[in-house]
Amino acid sequence: NITLENLNKSFGKANVLNNINLEIEDGSFTILLGPSGCGKSTLLRILAGLEEESSGRIYMDTDDITEKEPKDRNIAMVFQNYALYPHMTVYQNIEYGLKIKKVAKEERKSIIDNVLQLVELKDHAQKRPKQLSGGQRQRVALARAIVKRPGAFFMDEPLSNLDAKLRNHMRQELIELHQQLKTTFLYVTHDQVEAMSMGSYIIILNQGKVMQQGTPKDIYTNPQNLFVAQFIGSPP
Ligand code: ATP
Ligand code: MG
Repeated sequence: NITLENLNKSFGKANVLNNINLEIEDGSFTILLGPSGCGKSTLLRILAGLEEESSGRIYMDTDDITEKEPKDRNIAMVFQNYALYPHMTVYQNIEYGLKIKKVAKEERKSIIDNVLQLVELKDHAQKRPKQLSGGQRQRVALARAIVKRPGAFFMDEPLSNLDAKLRNHMRQELIELHQQLKTTFLYVTHDQVEAMSMGSYIIILNQGKVMQQGTPKDIYTNPQNLFVAQFIGSPP
């Protein structure tokens, strides 16, 4: 499990994260939900090691990773803008990280063939990012993350650039991908519908504080405060 202990973050005088204590269960599809500016991206970036906390500790199982470099955290990040290399083909984009890890050419090919099958991009391997749709680019970014075989996937509003139809489709694909990989997904969104339909566990954040956490059903049927009730739109 990923454990956050008394995590705080300030930017100057602004307290952006306020004594966060959380447990993210291995293999769960956990959603970090909250309004714009509540601290979701900051929290994710701190967990990934891309931003430094002001205080607190982060553990992966019993391993204290608070001081570790991003590359040593066994996490793959998928961002809102997929940051693919424009001059490389789909195949090369996925291959790049494997080359850096010095995986042999033959093995690279078999890993990439497999992942292209998984994300249904076999016919697009030789295209460049600009020749792909938004959803296809998103799947390349996922494929690139998958081949790293991380212990957890962190996704920061990965579908927000897609149109409504494609977004719905990709939600379903992500749910299926999670079922196949059985790896922890930590997924940030400000969209209640997305959270309720995708997550196995939801953490609601407001103004840098955890307002409630639980299964979608728990939260919907038993909101613990007015903020959660209004944000989720639970019946009064
Ligand atoms: P959104 O849904 O709009 O992406 P968010 O929940 O991801 O919002 P964050 O990006 O984590 O929000 O920002 C939380 C707060 O911290 C905001 O008030 C933001 O202005 C502030 N903040 C974030 N990064 C910095 C920074 N580098 N310097 C100063 N303030 C920052
Ligand atoms: Mg954000």
